[in-house]
Amino acid sequence: MSFAPVLIIGAGLSGLTTAYRLQQANIPFAILEARDRIGGRILTVRNETGTPIEMGATWLGKKHTAINALLAELGIEITEQYMGKQAIYEALSTSPPQLVQLPPNNAPSYRIVGTSTSLIEALAKRLSKDAICLSQVVQKIEKIDDGFTVHTQDTTFRANAIVSTLPPRLLMQTVECAPSWPEALRTIANQTHTWMGESIKVGFSYPTPFWRAKGLSGTLFSNVGPVGEMYDHSDDGQGYYALKGFLNGVYHSLTKAERCELVLQQLRKYYGNQVDQYTTYEEGVWRLEPYTFTDYDQSLLPHQNNGHAIFRQPLFGERFFIGGAETASEFPGYMDGAVRRGEEIAVAIIAQQ
Ligand SMILES: Cc1cc2nc3c(=O)[nH]c(=O)nc-3n(C[C@H](O)[C@H](O)[C@H](O)COP(=O)(O)OP(=O)(O)OC[C@H]3O[C@@H](n4cnc5c(N)ncnc54)[C@H](O)[C@@H]3O)c2cc1C
Repeated sequence: MSFAPVLIIGAGLSGLTTAYRLQQANIPFAILEARDRIGGRILTVRNETGTPIEMGATWLGKKHTAINALLAELGIEITEQYMGKQAIYEALSTSPPQLVQLPPNNAPSYRIVGTSTSLIEALAKRLSKDAICLSQVVQKIEKIDDGFTVHTQDTTFRANAIVSTLPPRLLMQTVECAPSWPEALRTIANQTHTWMGESIKVGFSYPTPFWRAKGLSGTLFSNVGPVGEMYDHSDDGQGYYALKGFLNGVYHSLTKAERCELVLQQLRKYYGNQVDQYTTYEEGVWRLEPYTFTDYDQSLLPHQNNGHAIFRQPLFGERFFIGGAETASEFPGYMDGAVRRGEEIAVAIIAQQ
């Protein structure tokens, strides 16, 4: 049985932030991660041309002070999302798409220079070697006299303190706890929306930004769909050109080829057949990801119960922390919430030493 004073469950942004702060305070820890990669809901895919496409978190704002401070500390810059002056807007299926002027934006969105994954890699690089155990699916947590035992599919760990960073509903639905989770926590967590858990992202990489030659910005908003919004996702400095957007989540049951064709049909309306000259098509169908999403048994509102105070109440003698983006008191569900809550938990653990 392996022992770690602090066991962090999940190597997404929140778990890695806690780990980074514990490392700075010389507190030993281990991270158990179910997937064979780190990053959780931050995932940048790179096709054979090297064009990076964000399948998970992409944008942040200046108001997101926790993540901005962390990025600055790690020496990572941000860059404004290119929107252009005009967007394609499709209001109704009965009327043709229009070109509309975009109003000046006083609170623009920013992207992380070098991709969102560069933040994940910068944090992981600062942790001790072997701190992260990949492909370890936590299945059961037992409270014992002087700590916890944590069972994965093939290993048992022991720890004095536990930090879960799973989306709260996923924790309740997939991890057994002995004694069982407190009833009030279980009820709220089961009704807590996992931010973007149902979403589908789609992206095409292209050899050239052909839409710009037509005087178009790549920005589109459509009430008709199936793509509701799309943006220029290029990195001009690196010579990477791409369009990326959100496909309506109801299309999760189609095949990848079917989804690709549906998106192309829509884009041909605006850009013509040049959309078919794509180098690669990438997609992220998050509701099919068992380590992010578990279906709801009743419909939940976006962000429902995100940031609920019950997640920050002491549990099992203040040795068990319910973390992750959805549990943050500010900007829950977002990258900023993940960082904020990750840091808050690290401060609490450090104070207990
Ligand atoms: C498509 C999409 C777009 C988004 N866009 C934005 C955006 O533009 N801006 C923004 O701020 N936020 C965005 N978000 C939200 C953002 O991704 C999250 O807020 C943030 O990444 C959450 O980090 P986390 O560490 O709290 O959770 P997660 O990233 O979900 O990490 C939890 C980790 O736990 C692991 N895990 C799950 N079950 C187990 C288990 N049983 N045992 C061990 N490990 C387990 C998972 O594999 C995962 O690595 C987006 C999310 C998605 C999906």
